[in-house]
Amino acid sequence: MLENIDKQYVMQTYARNYVNFKRGVNATLFDDTNKKYIDFTSGIGVVSVGHGNERVANKICEQVRNITHISNLFLIEPQALLGQKINELTGYDVATFFANSGAEANEGAIKIARKYGQTKFANKKYKIITLEHSFHGRTITTVKATGQAKFHSDFFAPYPDGFRFDPSLEAVYQAIDDETVAVMIELIQGEGGVSPFNKDDIQKLAKFLKEKEILLIVDEVQTGVYRSGEFLASQLYDIEPDIITLAKGLGGGVPIGAVLTKHKDILSAGDHGSTFGGNYLVTTAALEVLDILENYKNSGLLDEHLIYFDMKLKELRTKFSEIMLDTVGLGLMRGIKIKDDETLAKIVSNAFAEGVLVLKSGRSTLRFLPPLTITKDEIDEGFERLENALKKI
Ligand SMILES: *Cc1c(COP(=O)(O)O)cnc(C)c1O
Repeated sequence: MLENIDKQYVMQTYARNYVNFKRGVNATLFDDTNKKYIDFTSGIGVVSVGHGNERVANKICEQVRNITHISNLFLIEPQALLGQKINELTGYDVATFFANSGAEANEGAIKIARKYGQTKFANKKYKIITLEHSFHGRTITTVKATGQAKFHSDFFAPYPDGFRFDPSLEAVYQAIDDETVAVMIELIQGEGGVSPFNKDDIQKLAKFLKEKEILLIVDEVQTGVYRSGEFLASQLYDIEPDIITLAKGLGGGVPIGAVLTKHKDILSAGDHGSTFGGNYLVTTAALEVLDILENYKNSGLLDEHLIYFDMKLKELRTKFSEIMLDTVGLGLMRGIKIKDDETLAKIVSNAFAEGVLVLKSGRSTLRFLPPLTITKDEIDEGFERLENALKKI
């Protein structure tokens, strides 16, 4: 049986759910018994343009029948065009480094900050401040940057120096010293309870950091690529960070990460690299994903659907107010606070049984990250199934 094969030959680092999905169409999935599911997770914010996207599939096929990979020792046309497209969509005047994941994008951001701190000041500045409940990745460095003590297991020690996390934006001001080079934040903490920071507070911090010549790194691995309703959550907050990282939704399912910065000449030849980063396969896919999503946003459909999703979410929370406390999040990165973790776990498993996929996030939050291209019919059907699941709690 497949489950046994997986258990014997794949390292068991996930609490895995043994369903075997066979077919996907936009926000709808079918398993090997042909049971239907509405997908409110999009593979944790990855499948931004839906499962089985015909346009992306065609572009990928066409590209890999020709050239999949050359290496970064040569010009890569779709990579250059993707860098140009990202620059255009941000409106910030940035250059991009292409990596393969969110953690790796954040590693790149940290390297840029460290070199900036080494070369721009009389003393070496290297300290990076992050926030409690944040999530920045699973490599040794990004796990240390992650503001959750439970991730800093002694098994993996020692960790690199120069990271600390603080419980609030207010505390960040206190933590800054003359060796601080950067503050790294998520504008909406994805793993930490889908909690958006207050816009005024973020603008105030951004202004303060700029005056102090401390870099603002915004981890948009989850919030980026229209998840918030805008291309970047930074645009929604009306700030201009020094460094921005992207990954999850950028490739519509192919592994791609990106570090964007207006400090274009901090890293020079030899400072950083990646074998796979930005190859023909992934950048061709991402170009098509961005084209689809840009048009989708401009057509007004994205905004229409996120308003619709918001309405359904609030209706649900009102109907089940004994267990559902509050709706949180922005755009199509949403959540509902649940009265306790036990109830939350039950909701997720009942929902699965009823054929709707939802996620857990920290701080007892039921989390929703549907494909950005989810239709109203799929939203309706997903919420209907969720209601059935909740009635059985
Ligand atoms: C998922 C996530 C990461 C890590 O991305 P990987 O691709 O899993 O390495 C980093 N930061 C944020 C905000 C994320 O949501």
